[in-house]
Amino acid sequence: MTFDSLQLIDPIRRAIKAEGYETPTPIQAQAIPIVLNGKDLLGCAQTGTGKTAAFAIPILQLLSEQQLQRKGKRNIRALILTPTRELAIQIGESLASYGRYTGLKHTVIFGGVKQARQTDALQNGVDILVATPGRLLDLMAQRFVSLQNLEIFVLDEADRMLDMGFIHDVRKVIAVLPPRRQSLFFSATMPSEIVKLADTILHEPEKVEVTPVSSTVDLIQQWVYFVDKENKANLLIHLLNEKKIENALVFTRTKFGADKVMKVLMRNNIKAESIHGNKSQNARQNALTNFKSKAIRVLVATDIAARGIDVDELAHVFNYEIPEIPETYVHRIGRTGRAGASGTAYSFCETDERKSLKDIQKLIDKVIPVVAEHPYPQSQTPGNEMAKAKPQPQAVSQKSNNFHKSRSNPTDNASEQARASKANSGKRPWYTKVKNNKKG
Ligand code: AMP
Repeated sequence: MTFDSLQLIDPIRRAIKAEGYETPTPIQAQAIPIVLNGKDLLGCAQTGTGKTAAFAIPILQLLSEQQLQRKGKRNIRALILTPTRELAIQIGESLASYGRYTGLKHTVIFGGVKQARQTDALQNGVDILVATPGRLLDLMAQRFVSLQNLEIFVLDEADRMLDMGFIHDVRKVIAVLPPRRQSLFFSATMPSEIVKLADTILHEPEKVEVTPVSSTVDLIQQWVYFVDKENKANLLIHLLNEKKIENALVFTRTKFGADKVMKVLMRNNIKAESIHGNKSQNARQNALTNFKSKAIRVLVATDIAARGIDVDELAHVFNYEIPEIPETYVHRIGRTGRAGASGTAYSFCETDERKSLKDIQKLIDKVIPVVAEHPYPQSQTPGNEMAKAKPQPQAVSQKSNNFHKSRSNPTDNASEQARASKANSGKRPWYTKVKNNKKG
């Protein structure tokens, strides 16, 4: 499948080429024809699968085809509702990229900042509006937004809307949408409340599903280091320097922890910033911008703050603390290895975190190879004496969940890579598994 076979108009084909995309990702290959056909869509996919382009490209094409006949001030003809400011900005950037030759206009609105620039943009007229629910309702109440000419509605990351308590706001928005419209609904998971919501929004949708989250990890090389809590910062600094890591996303469990790690890195001349829920929207966005532009080397983040972060070419993720919920591990390491790229994830496991590590390995059905040779080995752990006594490489078993038996001791990058490909081989990349079936 190529982009040429998707029957895209020339301005969009040129823009995709300029982006450097060669082949559509599975969600794009499935979803684009459905949307271009004017059908409703239920997409089960998380960020990292290329889902933004899967809806942005056909929306731009549909609106652009009808644009020629329209005169006068632009009306909002497509609304994309998304839970966070970061996602809204990313979707806006995608629309700007893919739509650069279409002449269509879009704007992005979200809370936590003054509204003047947003309302100015709205008053100048836009074809596509990207919004978070709270700010949208606010500006609708002030009559800066009218949705009466809406043709296409996208609900992005529906399950996160639910998680973040936005579902009532979403319902309020849906209540004022014109009933005759095309609707696209995306969610990484489909709990019953989300299925119910989808039923109220969609009309005879076609369903596109990208593989469940757990196989996302197959493309990413993963390593675990057993280390005492008090040595984690030293180990992080050691690895960043030893492996000459240009930029990395480091996950901590708490906001306090994120700040602490950031400060230690700064003291060691490693440029870092932290993002978490206590930071203002502006501070978070600035940190993200600095990270993307490589003005800083490390971004330290909590899980909530980092969800939805999309950084092209992010090759390294560190789990400074092992998450208790195994799915969180998959979300974290999924920040790297986006849309088919490869990446590496390092996890620091202290004694108390071994149970969480076991749960993760069970979920991903894979033993994460252990790097036993490093300058900060754990002082008192059942498996560690073995590591110290016999630092010999051993085969990594994929099936066994007993990581003590299958620990490996890569001592340099080359053996690490070789071991990784062995550990990661034999599985298909996450993005090759797609189902497409009709709903209803
Ligand atoms: P998303 O799932 O929309 O957050 O996209 C994840 C990443 O994949 C983004 O950085 C996109 O720029 C990139 N991407 C989307 N579609 C493609 C494609 N067809 N080929 C290569 N990269 C892509």
